[in-house]
Amino acid sequence: MFQKVHLRLTLLCTGITAAIMIIMSLCYLYVSESGLKSNQFQAFRNDINTISTNLEHQSVISMEWLSKMEAQGNYLFFVLDNGTPFLFNQLNSPEENDVRERLLAESRDAYLDQFAMETSVQTSKPDDVFSILTHFEYEFISPSMGTQYYAGRITMGAQDSKLEIIVLSSALKLEQQINKQRFRFLIIDISAVILLGVFSWFFTGRLLKPIVENQEKQTLFIASASHELRTPLSVILSAAECCKTAPPERRENFLKTITLEGMRVSSLVSDMLTLTQSDTNRFTIQKKPVELDTLLMNSYEAFVPLAQEKSISLSVELPEDALPPCNADPERISQVVSILLHNAISYTPRYGRIVLSLTMQRGKFRIAVTDNGIGISAADKKRIFDRFYRAEKSRSTKDHFGLGLSIAHEIVKAHGGSISVNDSESGGSCFMVVL
Ligand code: ADP
Repeated sequence: MFQKVHLRLTLLCTGITAAIMIIMSLCYLYVSESGLKSNQFQAFRNDINTISTNLEHQSVISMEWLSKMEAQGNYLFFVLDNGTPFLFNQLNSPEENDVRERLLAESRDAYLDQFAMETSVQTSKPDDVFSILTHFEYEFISPSMGTQYYAGRITMGAQDSKLEIIVLSSALKLEQQINKQRFRFLIIDISAVILLGVFSWFFTGRLLKPIVENQEKQTLFIASASHELRTPLSVILSAAECCKTAPPERRENFLKTITLEGMRVSSLVSDMLTLTQSDTNRFTIQKKPVELDTLLMNSYEAFVPLAQEKSISLSVELPEDALPPCNADPERISQVVSILLHNAISYTPRYGRIVLSLTMQRGKFRIAVTDNGIGISAADKKRIFDRFYRAEKSRSTKDHFGLGLSIAHEIVKAHGGSISVNDSESGGSCFMVVL
């Protein structure tokens, strides 16, 4: 399920970002190309203007001058004397002339299409051949070459003695420049989309990681809870079944079993509830100033009978000087101490020794429960705070579900403190809570 979500999120992130990037690239290309084209056309117009001014100050148009101008500006010049091509146009090779003639015809067609109105207006009657000089610049796409051309048409004189100079400039270079720019953008956009895809895959993967882990934890939690609940419930059911047919003197035993197993289920359910509240942030901590030494003394007294039952020596070590009050939830901290003491008593064999102590170092309270019990292996130390985890050698203990330390961890975490475990000097374990 998460694989699909991962893929969809990646596609969504990549798609949206790529769409924005492509739209921006297209806008940029449009603005840039329009600018390039209008600059080029403007430059051509300026050139035609200069050529016209030159012509105006010349009484004779020499072939030499025309060739020079052609070479300088990469232009094609056509001189028409009253509509008849001038000798200058026939100086090239036959193939070249062919192309030139085609271009001339196409440019004239385009001119007529675009400036038919203006042409008719320009037919005034001049006295002097060079007295009227007009010029037009326009763009056209050559149907035969498929290339865009800029054309300038300079007209001198009047109807019966008209000299026309048509100047053509190919926009091929500009087109090549534009195509190059488009190609560069295409490569940049494709690379960016690939990079975005890779980045989105890792980014969404990282985003989903805690959700996936949480889902796995929930599944494990439900599986473990069901497993733990199944045993006491089946004992209750079979005891209840036996109760029906058992003689009255044995019924008492079955009822006792039902009560004990019922209490186990109730304690397990209440532990699970505490953890669920912590997961959903409904775990309330009501902090107030607490005398930790008094709190520890009360916990100690509560566990003395249980320790005595197992002939375990339980002692408490408190600082001689009075400590300042600690800002904590007394109920919850008592619960943590109870969990640690209960575990210590459970995992310490007969005649063992347990010490509950309180110290203060660098403004922090340290509550320690040290025993000389069975100890915890290095591998187990990493996992004992996980829900439902029990070390191999302690699995036989029936009234433990592997939830105590996870609850203690959540409580200490909610207080902003820490809980850790180390080996004790006497070979057992030492749990340390820092507040
Ligand atoms: P449980 O209810 O099973 O004690 P906890 O979460 O309190 O669950 O503890 C998890 C596991 O950590 C225990 O099953 C046990 O293996 C180990 N453990 C906890 N406290 C001690 C201890 N004082 N000595 C040895 N092992 C311990």
